[in-house]
Amino acid sequence: MVKQLIADAKKIVIKIGSNTLAGKDGKINFAFLDDFAQQAASLMNEGKQIVIVSSGAQVAGLSTMDKWVKKKDIHYRQALCAVGQVQLMKAWRRAFEKDELFIAQILLTREDFSDKNRTLNMRNTLFTLVDEGIVPIINENDTVSVEEIKIGDNDTLAARSAILWSADLLILFSDIDGLYNKNPKEDPNAALVEEVRDIAEIRKNITIGAANDFGTGGIATKLEAAELALSFGIPTILTNGGNPRCLESLAAGSQKGTVFLT
Ligand code: ADP
Repeated sequence: MVKQLIADAKKIVIKIGSNTLAGKDGKINFAFLDDFAQQAASLMNEGKQIVIVSSGAQVAGLSTMDKWVKKKDIHYRQALCAVGQVQLMKAWRRAFEKDELFIAQILLTREDFSDKNRTLNMRNTLFTLVDEGIVPIINENDTVSVEEIKIGDNDTLAARSAILWSADLLILFSDIDGLYNKNPKEDPNAALVEEVRDIAEIRKNITIGAANDFGTGGIATKLEAAELALSFGIPTILTNGGNPRCLESLAAGSQKGTVFLT
């Protein structure tokens, strides 16, 4: 099913979570970025179009400004993301440069999605970039997004971006193989749910545990994102970005995941 969905999709939005972008030391995992960019480039060579939604500004910020690690004040957190966003894009640029591909940064807020003119501009920019073979990399604009007006998690941002761009498929890379009936970090007997056709029903039948250190949404926002994307006919795959050659394996059908479809 996973293999078929990817084979059938031309326009793919791929979201990469903070815990996938961070190494075990809590710093940006450059090896992952390099490996991922190379796999994305191969898919593009096969005719796929790719838009990335990348978390990790805070992780990258902490990798640079480690003296700010204990500063929890909102302005310091926003400042940290502003520093980190540059480092993050530098890392992505270096990763894609190896395949002679350019990247473009798009920073969005919740308000951007509710304004007709802005959505039109966003959509046109995305289409232009992708048509020109450039890889757009989207993140939330933390500088202007205080808690009350935040999208707040990149799962929802990815779903909204997929809808905006009329994507064929949304892939959420996290640090788990997919949706489980219980939090696999807490229960070793948790079982992977490989296919979900009714999200409201699955919510009743699983236990939703806590998110990770750097994760903001956890599994709840992944379900919401899949639900939102599906309401526009876009299937979603939740899978592990921590495996080597994850994108390639997914496209080859050798990596597990949870598929959300109608
Ligand atoms: P990301 O940074 O990739 O967005 P999050 O930390 O936000 O990741 O969410 C993924 C985490 O959600 C998993 O690592 C897992 O510990 C937790 N989780 C809680 N309940 C579940 C569940 N039922 N199935 C899968 N993961 C779960």
